[in-house]
Amino acid sequence: MINPHFIQPNEYVEKSMKRRNFIELTAAAGMVNMLGCSSENDTEKKSESMGEQEINTLAQKIHKNILTLDTHDDIEYEFIEQGLDLGTRNEKRQVDLVKMEEGGLDAVFFAVWTGQKELNAETYDEAYKTALKYFDAIHNMCKNINADKIDLALSPDDVVRIWKSGKKVGMIGVENGFPIGEDISRVKEFYDLGARYITITHMGYNQLGDSSDPHGVVPARKYGGLTDFGKDVIREMNRLGMMVDVSHVARDTFYDIIFKSYAPVIASHSGCRALCNVPRNLDDYQLQALKDINGVVQIVAYNGYVKLPKEEADIKAFVDHIDHAVEVAGIDYVGIGADFDGGGGLPGFEDASKCLNVTTDLVRRGYSRDDIEKIWGGNLLRVWRDVEKASGKLTQTT
Ligand SMILES: [Zn+2]
Repeated sequence: MINPHFIQPNEYVEKSMKRRNFIELTAAAGMVNMLGCSSENDTEKKSESMGEQEINTLAQKIHKNILTLDTHDDIEYEFIEQGLDLGTRNEKRQVDLVKMEEGGLDAVFFAVWTGQKELNAETYDEAYKTALKYFDAIHNMCKNINADKIDLALSPDDVVRIWKSGKKVGMIGVENGFPIGEDISRVKEFYDLGARYITITHMGYNQLGDSSDPHGVVPARKYGGLTDFGKDVIREMNRLGMMVDVSHVARDTFYDIIFKSYAPVIASHSGCRALCNVPRNLDDYQLQALKDINGVVQIVAYNGYVKLPKEEADIKAFVDHIDHAVEVAGIDYVGIGADFDGGGGLPGFEDASKCLNVTTDLVRRGYSRDDIEKIWGGNLLRVWRDVEKASGKLTQTT
């Protein structure tokens, strides 16, 4: 593996210049029409010369045909208590099955979330019990309450199969390793309950490592990266075939994970620090490190991570982050994790019903059908498959 600390950040400039030059040169020379592009895949060559109507039509066509996947949707605890039912429009939520249908959003990772507290046996136990309630509610929603419209996917093959059947796809990610407590067997327990990623920390350090942000009385940093137990958890996740999620972790924790993990990792909902300089976002070195291990950054639509406080972000600012990550890391390493129902959502991309707007903006910016398919889930599914493969190989490589 390449040491991400020694990667030259300027390599990407050349690549992004090539892409831009191509668009500018072909447009300036009037070559766009000469190229005779007609398929969905030729948007890069065409978009500069397309009218709004043409852009909208092409975007609709692409959006309808590709699998669209969002890696991060939170659930307020009140809905867990009530019994999660996403079958009807719920004005208190940004993601429900009605809005997903309206916005052409096919697949969503639901977050089993626990907020960070101080570390002791009692708080571990409380977080663990809360996590189990989340699992229960998501299972009940996918397998009983809304089983006619959605099903739970446990693998990338499941995702594709369920999508092709016409149902929506539910998946589970655990946001915060806190409920693992000090019991490594809970990683497998969560895997067996359907979790396919764990976000190692939330806000505030936990028993696994340092966070990028403090939380109430829990400061961000304590150890300078992962703890020994955190390293064991990464190894156990690799063994099981669970994706390690680096969103929320401190920079030191990020690099500890990059070096420790046998498999590619994801950032399930993060932005680009170059565009919004908050510690929660990933800088260009980190984006390149994700690329170097074949991982993926799922760009977040949370105002505070898209624009600095007091600046109003919108869908264009969000897609600017996608653009930047593509320029730094490449088209194969970027996706979408909106953070709906957890603070995400921006003018133009307010909720799951507005997903087409993202595709439209990508078309307008010259992304091809294949590019958009990668961003809307293809890259994430590739990483997930690699994580599954790595888990099978682990016994041979250790
Ligand atoms: Zn989060």
